[in-house]
Amino acid sequence: MIHLANGLVIVGACVLVAALFPLQRLISRLPPGEMRDRWRILRGIIVFFIAGYIVYAAATWGNHRYLQDIIAPAIFFLGSCFMFTVSALALRTALDVRRISDLERENITDPLMGIRNRRYLDRRLKEEVERALRYDLPLSILLIDIDHFKRINDGFGHQVGDLVLQSLGKLIMKIARNTDVVARYGGEEILVIATSTPSESVHLFAERLRKAVEESVLVPPCDATRSLPVGVTVSIGTASLCPEAGSAEALVKTADEALYRAKGEGRNRIVFETIPAPSL
Ligand code: GH3
Ligand code: MG
Ligand code: MG
Repeated sequence: MIHLANGLVIVGACVLVAALFPLQRLISRLPPGEMRDRWRILRGIIVFFIAGYIVYAAATWGNHRYLQDIIAPAIFFLGSCFMFTVSALALRTALDVRRISDLERENITDPLMGIRNRRYLDRRLKEEVERALRYDLPLSILLIDIDHFKRINDGFGHQVGDLVLQSLGKLIMKIARNTDVVARYGGEEILVIATSTPSESVHLFAERLRKAVEESVLVPPCDATRSLPVGVTVSIGTASLCPEAGSAEALVKTADEALYRAKGEGRNRIVFETIPAPSL
């Protein structure tokens, strides 16, 4: 009886020590903040319990003679098993949540450009148009196409073409606001949803983008085989939603027509369009 009681407390203390390992892995994966602090507090409580188990075992060593003397050590032991299960499950849940959110992000991200993909764009554009029409909010889109991109692919190779697309994605993300949606529309076409942006402001935004691309080195020179930096220019077609009319399809069609005009007018320029209100 004595050995069983002491054994339960000692094994319980060991189980509590084992519970610290998944807890430590969990804490190291959490970003700094309130949640991590709370798990740290729980870790401190477990360390406190381990000390308590040891003190209890030392204080009651050899005092367990009757069956009822085993009740407290058994509760100690079950408590430590409970603690181990909680910390192992917490770690498992955190890893699963991280995996799911990684998958969700991959599902809506273009792997080459690192911006949102077409699937996400189609959904968001519809939502944003509905929201803008319902609450009478301004909404604009920019359709961006690289000028003479085939020449980059033909002259430097597709790998450099891919690097240009990567850098362009990063550059546009840097210039756009957090509330804007930057997505790959097609091959080398990018569509930006500029939320709460009226036609007057989209002019400034589009010009800032065009100028930044024109002035940027998207792929630096690497060696004698490519000693020149690679840069591109873009043409941009914009369309702004009219509160009385419009749909996602009409908005994209208008921006596409504006882009076509920008190409026709000599490239490296912006053409602005507004969807006309229906005549009464
Ligand atoms: P324009 O000024 O009229 O737009 O001329 P352009 O040569 O850019 O013509 P267009 O927009 O039709 O060219 C699209 C090119 O983009 C063709 C295709 O080879 C290239 N492209 C599309 N997707 C990718 C990609 O993922 N990687 C690379 N490297 N090239 C791509
Ligand atoms: Mg092009
Ligand atoms: Mg194109």
